Amino acid sequence: MNREETLVKNWQDVQAALAAACAKSGRDLKEITLLAVTKYAQDQDVLTLLQKGLIKHVGESRVQQALARWTSPVFASFHTVKHFIGHLQKNKAAKAAQLFDFVDSLDNLQTAQALSKAVPAGKTIRVLVQVKLTDRETQSGLPLEQARQLARELKALPGLKVAGYMAIAPQGAPQQELRTLFGTVKRAFDADFPAGEERYLSLGMSEDFEIAVEEGSSLPRIGSKLFAANLEGL
Ligand SMILES: *Cc1c(COP(=O)(O)O)cnc(C)c1O
Repeated sequence: MNREETLVKNWQDVQAALAAACAKSGRDLKEITLLAVTKYAQDQDVLTLLQKGLIKHVGESRVQQALARWTSPVFASFHTVKHFIGHLQKNKAAKAAQLFDFVDSLDNLQTAQALSKAVPAGKTIRVLVQVKLTDRETQSGLPLEQARQLARELKALPGLKVAGYMAIAPQGAPQQELRTLFGTVKRAFDADFPAGEERYLSLGMSEDFEIAVEEGSSLPRIGSKLFAANLEGL
């Protein structure tokens, strides 16, 4: 397989896995938005998937690097929805407000206020609050009840629309633990963001997105499964 064929095959494998997870849990594939995490991907690989019309939502974790890529003429010529998924520093919030359509990883009010102040006129940035699922690791995000409190506070900020939760599962957690953790966030999400309104629950990465979708994720974030050279080696 050449590189282009590999990338298309990776994308097809991800679609098939999403469809299987939907079938298993009685969900509709149309409810799921694939967030292609492009942060480690080569420019040419990202362009290949854009040119084929296979990806639209893209995720980056460094503001400066994302600006350089997505404001360059060739990348800017595609209609994409750009998500910031990394740890947003307050002093980068103004730059982030220019580029991103979504900030999926908010976990403090000060950064949110800086972001709100910098949103260009006429733009609304969707924001998700990052929930911390474990205290085992040094991880961003807030414990669930604090995350819910922050989500309530963010409703008052102009230029932002708080629209759900994001969480990163502990690496290597057993399946049952993942289901329990994801299920806890899903219940809070359903309580705080009523169905029928615009809302996003971003759970799952390359290693655990099938379980995350079975448990209710609507915005799985997938990087290595899409862009890896040889998935046999993963
Ligand atoms: C890098 C990253 C991903 C993608 O991880 P993969 O395991 O490569 O799919 C997803 N979410 C966040 C927050 C990330 O930083």
